[in-house]
Amino acid sequence: MAAAEAAGRGNETLLLEKMPRPARKMMITGKGRCNVTNATFDVNDLIANVPTNGRFLYSAFSAFMPYDTIALVEACGVPTKIERGNRVFPVSDKAVDIVDAFVGYARRCGVRFLHGTAAELELTDGAVTAVVTADGERLECDAVAICTGGLSYPLTGSTGDGYRLAESVGHTVTPLRPSLVPLVADNWFIPKLQGLSLKNVAIRVTDGDREVYSDFGEMLFTHYGVSGPVILSASAHMKNPEQGQYRLCIDLKPALDDKALDLRLQREFREHNNKDFINSLSNLLPNKLIPVIVPLSGIEPSQKCHSITREERLRLAHLLKHLTLHITGFRPVEEAVVTSGGVNVKEVNPKTMQSKLVPNLYFAGEVLDVDAYTGGFNLQIAFSTGYLCGQNI
Ligand SMILES: Cc1cc2nc3c(=O)[nH]c(=O)nc-3n(C[C@H](O)[C@H](O)[C@H](O)COP(=O)(O)OP(=O)(O)OC[C@H]3O[C@@H](n4cnc5c(N)ncnc54)[C@H](O)[C@@H]3O)c2cc1C
Repeated sequence: MAAAEAAGRGNETLLLEKMPRPARKMMITGKGRCNVTNATFDVNDLIANVPTNGRFLYSAFSAFMPYDTIALVEACGVPTKIERGNRVFPVSDKAVDIVDAFVGYARRCGVRFLHGTAAELELTDGAVTAVVTADGERLECDAVAICTGGLSYPLTGSTGDGYRLAESVGHTVTPLRPSLVPLVADNWFIPKLQGLSLKNVAIRVTDGDREVYSDFGEMLFTHYGVSGPVILSASAHMKNPEQGQYRLCIDLKPALDDKALDLRLQREFREHNNKDFINSLSNLLPNKLIPVIVPLSGIEPSQKCHSITREERLRLAHLLKHLTLHITGFRPVEEAVVTSGGVNVKEVNPKTMQSKLVPNLYFAGEVLDVDAYTGGFNLQIAFSTGYLCGQNI
């Protein structure tokens, strides 16, 4: 986007990309479907979805809104659709269509693509006069935009080079940490649940007595803890889980209130009257959960259903609505959807994306210290800041 806009204004523009093909990360966005933006058409509502330095993006969002993203990709021949939570996807459900749209747009604007790695910025009198590649090639220039992304999923090419380049010319980089990242939990039953996916659960994250997040949707258990859409979203609201007292409470039966769940348990136990408790839960729970819920319930596995007391039943109902995990950490930044932290936004002009320290240096996208919730907001940040940066070069 930055390159296309700069070229569209008549600048001779080179896009230097270290991977053999551009936009590898975009290819894996939205599970290969690319949630390209969010149909949120009010700037303040967009900013509300950016927990870190949202106000910095006011001018960028105002200059290039989600409806501009939709119009651009549709003009490139890629129709879009809006799904739950205003998430915008290509009708084809293929991220490659969005990648082709952007690459094609940039080419038509006159951008020249070059495969190579930016290794160094050369300064003369405080301004950038050349980018030196890892192969030692010297590319002279009047302006440079650093759009190297974050640190996550390094196989896509985003390995944090931009942070080092920015620091080499005097910028500060705020601490880098993962956001939208799977969570590590230390409960004994986690390895037993590995691979279990839960479609309709309600979750609640607390830090001590304070609720930090609640949501409804899909999650899954992994060998180390939990992942999936509601978990990634929750992680953006958590800070330093290693130091916090974070608990994740899972309501396995969100559609039933306490009374309805108790009636349901009574019915199950009546139906399985003479069966052992452990053999009575298959209508209620996925198979993997049964060997976990039974010991947690405190009811003997071999106890006959007809002898389960009211107190035991109520305790089981409570457990099904409050399966609680002790969260001990985030997975590493390489596994995160976005990197939190980055080039200090106090050193970048929010109206132009121009460095306040180096006059002809610009930044756009995840390399900046901005990060948003899931829903298409992170790509929209990249497009909006890229647009503003390209327009101002
Ligand atoms: C699994 C996953 C799913 C995601 N899904 C979504 C989604 O559905 N919707 C959404 O909004 N966001 C999503 N995101 C986040 C989104 O992909 C990023 O926030 C966004 O791609 C950032 O764009 P960017 O242009 O700043 O950086 P990137 O997309 O990371 O692009 C940076 C580019 O710079 C290149 N590069 C790096 N260093 C150098 C160098 N030294 N020289 C030359 N080139 C270099 C890289 O190869 C790369 O091509 C997802 C992220 C992940 C990891």
